[in-house]
Amino acid sequence: MNCELCGKVMDRYHEVIIDGVTMKVCHDCAKYGKEVTKRPVTVQREPVSRNIPRQNFVHVPPPPPPRRKTVNSTEDSDEPIIDFGKLIKKRREEMGLSQEELANKLQEKKNLVAKIEREEIKPDKHTARKIEKIMGVKVIEKVQ
Ligand SMILES: [Zn+2]
Repeated sequence: MNCELCGKVMDRYHEVIIDGVTMKVCHDCAKYGKEVTKRPVTVQREPVSRNIPRQNFVHVPPPPPPRRKTVNSTEDSDEPIIDFGKLIKKRREEMGLSQEELANKLQEKKNLVAKIEREEIKPDKHTARKIEKIMGVKVIEKVQ
């Protein structure tokens, strides 16, 4: 700021009363008036505000969740139908066959029949075709 009397740039000013008017003057001019403050006052520099208003702040909505990978339905595959194990067991019992007898008809091991009925394993296409032929049940279905 500048001295109100001589216009000199000053870092500190003296607040003095000259002819009944309070003035902020430099050290040299302070002698012309009656000093109000006992000590020279340090000029407060205007603090640079770092809080710049974010007028241009635009609320950006969160991106949409990623799309779930869709199952490629065009793939041609045979999948065992749901509850194929129960179905085979039910049909086998209807036919009055034991697991062993069914296994013999299928030319497979009894263990395999048991595992298929418990749905521990899925019958491969060849076995499934045999089951369907012998038992007349649908075990696999064409997924298109
Ligand atoms: Zn001055």
